[in-house]
Amino acid sequence: MTDSYAAMYRRSIDDPDGFWAEQARRIDWERPFDQVCDTSHPPFARWFVGGRTNLCHNAVDRHAATRPGDAALIWVSSEVGQERVYTFSELQAEVEVMAAILAGQGVRAGDRVLIYLPMIPEAAFAMLACARLGAVHSVVFGGFASHALANRIDDAEPVLIVSADAGSRNGRIVPYKPLLDEAIRLAAHKPAKVLMIDRGLSPFGRVADRDLDHAALRERLWGTRVPCEWLPSDAISYTLYTSGTTGRPKGVQRDVGGHAVALATSMALIYDGRAGETFFSTSDIGWVVGHSYIVYGPLIAGMATLMYEGTPVSPDAAVWWRLVEQYRVTVMFSAPTAVRVLKKQDPACLTRHDLSSLRALFLAGEPLDEPTARWIADAIGKPVIDNYWQTETGWPILTLARGVEPAAPKFGSPGVPMPGYRVQLLDEQTGAVLEAPNQKGLLAIAYPLPPGCMQTVWRDDERFVRTYWSSVPGRQVYSTFDWALRDEDGYYFILGRSDDVINVAGHRLGTREIEECIAGHPAVAEVAVVGVADALKGQVAMAFAVLKDPARAATPQAALALEGEILKRVDQQLGAVARPSRVRFVQLLPKTRSGKLLRRAIQAVCEQRDPGDLITLDDPAALQQIRELVAGAG
Ligand code: AMP
Repeated sequence: MTDSYAAMYRRSIDDPDGFWAEQARRIDWERPFDQVCDTSHPPFARWFVGGRTNLCHNAVDRHAATRPGDAALIWVSSEVGQERVYTFSELQAEVEVMAAILAGQGVRAGDRVLIYLPMIPEAAFAMLACARLGAVHSVVFGGFASHALANRIDDAEPVLIVSADAGSRNGRIVPYKPLLDEAIRLAAHKPAKVLMIDRGLSPFGRVADRDLDHAALRERLWGTRVPCEWLPSDAISYTLYTSGTTGRPKGVQRDVGGHAVALATSMALIYDGRAGETFFSTSDIGWVVGHSYIVYGPLIAGMATLMYEGTPVSPDAAVWWRLVEQYRVTVMFSAPTAVRVLKKQDPACLTRHDLSSLRALFLAGEPLDEPTARWIADAIGKPVIDNYWQTETGWPILTLARGVEPAAPKFGSPGVPMPGYRVQLLDEQTGAVLEAPNQKGLLAIAYPLPPGCMQTVWRDDERFVRTYWSSVPGRQVYSTFDWALRDEDGYYFILGRSDDVINVAGHRLGTREIEECIAGHPAVAEVAVVGVADALKGQVAMAFAVLKDPARAATPQAALALEGEILKRVDQQLGAVARPSRVRFVQLLPKTRSGKLLRRAIQAVCEQRDPGDLITLDDPAALQQIRELVAGAG
């Protein structure tokens, strides 16, 4: 191992085979690999070819064998007022019985299992049970509603869905079952079985011959041994849907061996998380952070992982810090929006508890603004480390390798490239690599992506190549679709997306998906959705709709009623997470002469910035009307 960031990074680029073969020792292999990386079919890369391993073995069984009584999964719900600690041996028993239930329903390696669950231990059991069997899990965030869920069901074609009666948000019960039933009704693909976990929060109806009772099956099968299925390193471990620039979300597909090695590497070199300690990520299993750093990463590293159901401010804003003290959390992971929420609360809440166990707080998922970073760093007196990555990569592209050397963060910058990432900044027009510092370019990664990154788009290799690897003429590089610059010291600064993806409270949303939903309302002729800067959430979605009959919004009352109807439609179809902050009605939308919607100009006007070069605008009146609406809203 190397002892400086620069030496570690250089080696990962100059001698990738040597570097990754060494990192691969962090996990157990049933059969060793013959080749570190197969690069014979760019832009595809196969990691640890010939090796066989299992994620569940590495996350659970190997620790249960040596440290059965150590804490593995700590579940805390401030929503239902429950806490429960599972040791590695208890976790293994729970995962095995879940695997027995799934296997009993005919789930086999390669089959898809869709998981639509709130933050309850069974979510982790189900994911790990799939990993154990070699089934491909596809977790759908609980905040998504029927239509969004139906799209994902149709793409993943699961043989079975695991769900629950309800989640809880801010003390309000959120029933899941009616949304799921409606989603299955809408979907063309019908899963054979639905495994229902009944939390006793919300009564629900069962569909005969389809809906299974988890509690009864668990009791019947308790104690059944289900061995881990040894899988080829490049078998598919999971798919996770993420938004892009089309209305159709992409299934990001990840492998088994590369994924396990990358996460183990990141736990050691980036997060400096050590076996026997506690890792606390405040994310949700429906997002990539939840996959990598609630479930797999900490457990692979032999750490206890703290899974939390609730908000950062209930019962009060001290709740997370109480958990840090109580469970001796050493590494914590959250998002800037959560910190901005805390910032509005009594600052004494942050110092009420003993935070001496905590070494660092990592924040990711959206830009970390300097005031927020400074405020939390001062308030808790710990290093606050930004990390930049994407669902596609599965682990950080840019941050500081705290496990290698404690480099000082620079406010406003997530840091420097992590091992194996050949990060480049490209000129948008020419595709030329920008070598000089302080130039804005597209953030790209040269082939091959390091282990743990997406293998492809689920069932759509062509889309993978076209979407990610074809944006620079004549060169095959991976585009992140983010703008960035690098300063004289090699630190990167992220400057926003180059496409129509927006980021609301760290949640990535495609504006097209929201537009398609709104355009389905019978009164709407056309709509544009843009992301607008917001002090709390980073961005919020704002919709501008042209009506088929403008009389529908002739009076303020009528406009408000119609806006309410449209927002309700978004809630019901996509989920509250995608709901725009406003829907405004306009006579026309700003477009280029060739008819292309000028979302960036709308965004600029909403943010009271100069929309830039508008010579191509077909009708300036369109933008003027939006300008007046925004000014009128004060
Ligand atoms: P997701 O796939 O949901 O994780 O979203 C990834 C996108 O979120 C990136 O492409 C960025 O646009 C943004 N993002 C994530 N982390 C950061 C960060 N630390 N700083 C700035 N933007 C970020």
